[in-house]
Amino acid sequence: MRQGTRKKARHQRKSNFGPPHLVIRRSKIESEGCYTLQPIATGTHIVEYTGPRLTIEEADALYDNHRRTYLFGLTDGKHVIDGEGVAAFINHCCDPNCEVDEIDGRVWIIAVRDIAAGEELTYDYNLYDGDQDDAAQCFCGAGNCRGSMYSEEELERRAKKDAP
Ligand SMILES: [Zn+2]
Repeated sequence: MRQGTRKKARHQRKSNFGPPHLVIRRSKIESEGCYTLQPIATGTHIVEYTGPRLTIEEADALYDNHRRTYLFGLTDGKHVIDGEGVAAFINHCCDPNCEVDEIDGRVWIIAVRDIAAGEELTYDYNLYDGDQDDAAQCFCGAGNCRGSMYSEEELERRAKKDAP
């Protein structure tokens, strides 16, 4: 008699965690952030933003009244990814070292400049569709910080809404 693994059952869980050189640590920007232990070259597809796909209606039902979510809106305008992988720990910055691109329905975090070992990864959240009373304040500390994690377009839209 010997022990064995039921191969089908085990090791089948899709690993949602990214490359081993990424670690989650306390961050100056927000409680936790994602750091690289290795240098990363410009243009590298670093990690995929993974998680269940929800429709916007499903996400609204789940997260109504939640101030902070990890929902990533897809370009079809109908679905979001409910981030649960390492990429969901990446903080917003107004002067980021990464950008996000949707390629064939998958969302990738891509380096927009060379990143040194030990740096925190960041991208611009370009938030939209927030509650009017939620300013989504930004404390990234970048020289060009716009004071909010909303996209430029969203800030304009909100400013118009606030106008009498
Ligand atoms: Zn900022």
